[in-house]
Order: sequence, then structure tokens, then C-alpha cells
Amino acid sequence: MTEPSQHPSETLVERARAHLRASGMRWTPQRRLLVEVLLSTHGHVTGSELVERCRAIDPDTTPSTVYRSLDALEGLGLVRHSHGHDGVEEYHVLPESVHGHLRCEACGGTWDISEAEAQALTQALAGARGFAVNLSHLTVVGRCAQCPPVVATAEPELADAEP
Ligand SMILES: [Zn+2]
Ligand SMILES: [Zn+2]
Ligand SMILES: [Zn+2]
Repeated sequence: MTEPSQHPSETLVERARAHLRASGMRWTPQRRLLVEVLLSTHGHVTGSELVERCRAIDPDTTPSTVYRSLDALEGLGLVRHSHGHDGVEEYHVLPESVHGHLRCEACGGTWDISEAEAQALTQALAGARGFAVNLSHLTVVGRCAQCPPVVATAEPELADAEP
């Protein structure tokens, strides 16, 4: 990825302002703050974490301002939401591409799955069911390679018990 050498964030703030205005929202200090908080965010962040971060700086920020603005900013492509295993919305700032997620149920780690990695799965569902997977809403829960595997509690000796 090549990055433009001049400050891209000021342009993004300008684009966010124009987009929110076009969506019928006033450009308030709270909305500007949200955009700045987003641009300083890396990885995944939940809506309530964003509300907390904004309120820590400006206590006048309301959750409804944050969530309505996030919806509009998703239309601009500044953020994209996915869902954690508990259904909580998680936001990515400036996602480079559509991707799904892996979540380890033991350590809580999350990893991105690229479109290419998910292709076998999404194509199987497209072929067998004509179902188009929304990859950014796909979260696969399991165990990562670093966590001890679940020990199978099956009792194979039962099957072989008879001499
Ligand atoms: Zn959703
Ligand atoms: Zn793990
Ligand atoms: Zn992700």
C-alpha cells in the first residue's frame, strides 16, 4: 500500500464533514471529535468504546450522535461494521478491503480473514444454496493455534470393549 505523503487525515475530516452535511446532519464539535477519535483508532473498536472515548474528551457527546454519525460515515466508507460473537457492533476505520473474522473462544483473539481465504467457503455456499455471503458479517469462532485444543471426551474403548 502506498500512502500519500501529505497529511491525509485533514482531507478525511473534510470529506466526513461534507458527507455528514449531505446526510442532513449538522457539523457539530461532537461530530468532529468523533471523526478525530476514529482516525486515531486502529483495529476493531465497538460503538460503546467510541462513545466512551468521545465522552472522556467532550461529556456533551451522546450515544445517539455517535451511532447516527457512524451509520452515515459507513456510507462514506470511512468505517465498516462487523459483529462480535455476542452480536455487538465492531467498527473498522478505513478498512482496506472487505474481510471476515476469526475469533478464538479461549484467548479472545481476533484475526481478519481475507476474501481470498474465505473463497472456498463463500463459493460453496453460493454454489450449493445460491447464498451470497456478506463477508464483513462472517465471524468464525473456534480455537487459535496458540491455545490448547479441546480434549475430546469421547470414549473410544466402548466401541472396542468386546473381546
Ligand atoms: Zn450488521
Ligand atoms: Zn487462542
Ligand atoms: Zn477486521
